[in-house]
Amino acid sequence: MKNTNINLGIDLGGTKIEIAALDFSTNNIIYRHRIPSPQNVYKDTLQAISDLVFETEQKLGLECQVGIGIPGSISSLSNKVRNANSIWLNDKPLLNDLSKILRKSIKIENDANCFTISEATDGAGANYNSVFGVILGTGVGSGIVINQQIVKGSNGLAGEWGHNPLPWKTKSEKGSKDCWCGKTDCIEKYISGPSIEKEYLKIFGEKKPLKIIVDKCLKGDENCSLLMDQFISRVARCFASVINFLDPDVIVIGGGLSNIERIYTDVPKIWSKWIFSGKAETKILKAIHGDSSGVRGAAWLNKN
Ligand SMILES: [Zn+2]
Repeated sequence: MKNTNINLGIDLGGTKIEIAALDFSTNNIIYRHRIPSPQNVYKDTLQAISDLVFETEQKLGLECQVGIGIPGSISSLSNKVRNANSIWLNDKPLLNDLSKILRKSIKIENDANCFTISEATDGAGANYNSVFGVILGTGVGSGIVINQQIVKGSNGLAGEWGHNPLPWKTKSEKGSKDCWCGKTDCIEKYISGPSIEKEYLKIFGEKKPLKIIVDKCLKGDENCSLLMDQFISRVARCFASVINFLDPDVIVIGGGLSNIERIYTDVPKIWSKWIFSGKAETKILKAIHGDSSGVRGAAWLNKN
């Protein structure tokens, strides 16, 4: 049986694949399931995704539309995946292969775009016309949604801000960090979770997981505070550059680092140094749907 109110969203991550069924009539997730991502073998990824869809449809007794959020994106020229940090997906015709296996047309979108459309539709950005969504986690991804529509750009690259260079670098920041994308000093190398862990190791000679570092900062540890000051300065510079070229109504933040409260309180206190007008009223808000934004946004891809 077909049901146009219930759509499936899949979040294809580097470590897990999650599926959820979103009921558009209530905006509630009525079913979700998560499995570990197969590693390094493309056909295992195809198999895992198709099994999840078939099992979910069987459980619901429904045939549903399917949207998938992926790291990277589908090239409009080759129709193949590119820029995925799950590198076994790159140069593979994921959209065509899955459409064939599932015997229906599906939609695939960059995971940060899924996050942003989710938050712009019924999340923290729901009351704003222009939303810049940022995932600060193991990487840095971002998306732009204007009037409830994902801005893709003519090359499908809109929002790939994490691989621009860190703006207004200090002397010590220049030319020091090589990125997996082949460039140097990408934003992702400065304001992602691994970047904070590496910085901590470099300054204090100790390896600590991000959660511990953030907890220590919250408890007022002086060493951590210095590290956090540096992080807040970098985030402020990065967001100031977004305001200077896009000037969104709101910046919505998700991912593991979105729990750092100083982003919301301290970044707006210092970003005016780099903002062209010297002042900005732009809101910075924490994502409402947390971990669910990926699957929710993927399901929203088929909302007409
Ligand atoms: Zn890069």
